[in-house]
Amino acid sequence: MTSQGRTLPKRLEDFLRNWSLPRQFAGEDAASEAAQSEGSKGLRPRLEEADRIGTSICPYCAVGCAQLVYAKDNQVLHVEGDPRSPINQGTLCPKGAATASLLANPDRLTTACGGRTLCYGSRAGRWRICRA
Ligand code: SF4
Repeated sequence: MTSQGRTLPKRLEDFLRNWSLPRQFAGEDAASEAAQSEGSKGLRPRLEEADRIGTSICPYCAVGCAQLVYAKDNQVLHVEGDPRSPINQGTLCPKGAATASLLANPDRLTTACGGRTLCYGSRAGRWRICRA
């Protein structure tokens, strides 16, 4: 038995039955369901769940790449480049593409530091050096 409760021959049988390539060799159309595995049939694009799409500018550098921000229930799902922008034409560098991670980081400062040397991250509950 395997960790999934199926024997190796059963797993191989399932793999060959669900793998798209043998079904396409057997004559099924590659543009039909033959291109889908059992695992991929239930997958949905995560942006399908978004109830709002906003625009923003990448916060990281002076290039000012335009972004599309997808959100659901006021939580950011995804950030991508805005294809309408003449500056970045839908692209983001790796730093800009990680903007959603910046927003979701529990250690992110959520209050202005007011010019002090040390800032207190309200959610993280830690002091940080803000200015040298
Ligand atoms: S995506 Fe990259 S190049 Fe564009 S503004 Fe952000 S950091 Fe700068």
